[in-house]
Amino acid sequence: MSIKVCKFGGTSMADGNNIRNVIDIIKSDRDRRYVVVSAPGKRYSNDIKVTDLLYQCQKEVEQTGACKEAFSKIRERFENIVKELGVDMDIATILNQTEQRICTENSADFAASRGEYLSGQVMAGALGVPFVDAQDVVIFNDDGSFAAEESYMLVAKALADKPRAVVGGFYGSYRNGKVKTFSRGGSDISGAIVARAVLADVYENWTDVSGFLACDPRIVDHPQGIKVLSYKELRELSYMGANVLHSESIFPVKSANIPINIKNTFRPEDEGTMIVPITKYQYTGNVVTGIAGKKNFTVIHIEKSMMNAEIGFTRKILSVLEKNGISFEHMPSGIDTMCLVVESAILGLGVLDRLLTEIEQAVNPDHVRVYNNIALVATVGHGMSSSIGTSGRLFKALSDANVNVRMIDQGSSELNIIVGVADEDCNKAIKAIYREFFPAN
Ligand code: ASP
Repeated sequence: MSIKVCKFGGTSMADGNNIRNVIDIIKSDRDRRYVVVSAPGKRYSNDIKVTDLLYQCQKEVEQTGACKEAFSKIRERFENIVKELGVDMDIATILNQTEQRICTENSADFAASRGEYLSGQVMAGALGVPFVDAQDVVIFNDDGSFAAEESYMLVAKALADKPRAVVGGFYGSYRNGKVKTFSRGGSDISGAIVARAVLADVYENWTDVSGFLACDPRIVDHPQGIKVLSYKELRELSYMGANVLHSESIFPVKSANIPINIKNTFRPEDEGTMIVPITKYQYTGNVVTGIAGKKNFTVIHIEKSMMNAEIGFTRKILSVLEKNGISFEHMPSGIDTMCLVVESAILGLGVLDRLLTEIEQAVNPDHVRVYNNIALVATVGHGMSSSIGTSGRLFKALSDANVNVRMIDQGSSELNIIVGVADEDCNKAIKAIYREFFPAN
């Protein structure tokens, strides 16, 4: 028998009706043995996700020492779910204990983790299988990084005597037992951890869309679906904002070559997208696999004559960034110029001025210019490396659409071409590139 690990996202877990779909999906395939769940998400567009309600609980605790009001909404949601599903469990007692612990722990991570903790317990009750608390098996180092090998070992040990089980996504704990969460959307990472720990044949990630699309459907109507993606393409696209899957969820499965299948809980018959290692990747004939864009970058353009001959120039600049705890996204350079592309959000009040002063002191440049409101648009695809003229087509499409390209960055892997454009040209650029490479749509 093969092993499938299935992760169900917030919409799939939003109410009793949706959870019934999830249960049918799990029961329809005996290989679906380990289930990782998110907290209940939105039931309708202006609904509030349980995780957001839990962050509100923490705020209430900080202000008043209790969280009666915010927690009452969570209580109602879980009581309804349990009633709708007809699960035989003492949810009232579990909810009372949870509310109390949110007050005594007084930690945002602890509060936020309770959505997955509760939905894991309900799902385990509904399926009649054991619940494994991620707090005991997903471990973080003191610096907040994920302790991969230790966690895989603990998860594997906890599941070794359980042919089926449910694990709550999104959280784990430090070695002292204090609960810590991954970043938002992190249940995708938890699912990948469980898949890696049990060496699953496939990691099924069930969500509310039928896989990745070649670009954002809010920008282009009905873009083509992507049937197969390589891990590398996925990393590029999800990092650039294609947010079907958390961009870090690929690391655990990648080391064991476990494919990820993105599936739609509400259209389970759809194939979805298969994400595979490059060794199993088959060229589909498409030069470009997908296009994604991200706005709000700042470009720091540094110019100095003979920069190329000045040994240590780049190191000095990067030391300034390191000293200020700033990471950069790209660093395109010329003979006498160099650009640092940084997310504007991390250049808070006074940070940019301090960086500029320190860069001035470190390398004495001829000019430094700052460009704000820059968007990066990434065109991604393994097919690009073997097709002559791809960049020509791309830049012609942009110029025909009257988009001014401010920066170009193409990795030597030829997996992607990144262009920097003004924020307001971002969607126009994506549309133009899409039309060029997906003309039938
Ligand atoms: N519930 C968490 C969030 O809303 C984690 C997740 O759903 O993956 O971000």
